Amino acid sequence: MRTLDVIYPSAGFKDDKLFRKLRHGVGKAIADFSLIEKGDRIAVAVSGGKDSYTMLLLLEELRRRAPVPFELVAVNIDSGYPGYRTDVIEEFFRKNGFTYRMVPSEHYEIIKEKRRPGSSYCSICSRLKRGALYETAQTLGCNKLALGHHQDDFIETLLLNQFFVGSLKSMSASMLADNGVITVIRPLVYLAEEDIIAFSRLAKLPVVCCCCPVCGTADMQRKRMKRLLKELQVDIPHVKSSLLKALSNVHPRHLLDPALRRETVG
Ligand code: SF4
Repeated sequence: MRTLDVIYPSAGFKDDKLFRKLRHGVGKAIADFSLIEKGDRIAVAVSGGKDSYTMLLLLEELRRRAPVPFELVAVNIDSGYPGYRTDVIEEFFRKNGFTYRMVPSEHYEIIKEKRRPGSSYCSICSRLKRGALYETAQTLGCNKLALGHHQDDFIETLLLNQFFVGSLKSMSASMLADNGVITVIRPLVYLAEEDIIAFSRLAKLPVVCCCCPVCGTADMQRKRMKRLLKELQVDIPHVKSSLLKALSNVHPRHLLDPALRRETVG
């Protein structure tokens, strides 16, 4: 079994240039989209992947420095896939002094029973997980739920929706959930995936596999978008930052959506 480093409070990486860059990116997202306010109690979804661990550490660092008080509660949903090491995740929470809630579930059993042959594992799995996160956040008295989607997720989703759905949309940095109670926030919106990977290695984060039946083979179209972006970057090095910028630089009059035209042309 791999050993766990106690990151807080020793946190040897905190003065590292990369960590400061990531912290700056999250701070900017919080300011730009008013993600965190005084008195917030935020459920932080931690799956045991590089993104969610990094998000938790960055939010904790900012919480310690913040001029306004807010609280964090790390939440892990166990979908029940055999071999998923929730013990490693819980040890990370415990050793680093986080307030946390581990939530076991019967999701795998439900998926086995309800999934239609040939249909996507991920859509039902993520729907169930999202529902459990909303419910847990509410039970814990949280008003916000932080998810670890980063810059590359936003850009790939933008491309996927255009290429396969015929829709011009990505994700929101802050949005009231369908339940009308919890606000979903995405504080990693400005962080590049490659920086998160580098940080997770630097901090020796105890990344665990989700152990689902389609682990590593799911979401081939997203992988395709990753490859496409990598190819484009050879000739257009700033292509990712330009695509992200496009999401906050929308010109409705130059699009074809009739509803948007009615709003802007009258
Ligand atoms: S990759 Fe696996 S764990 Fe992730 S959403 Fe798909 S089925 Fe669920």
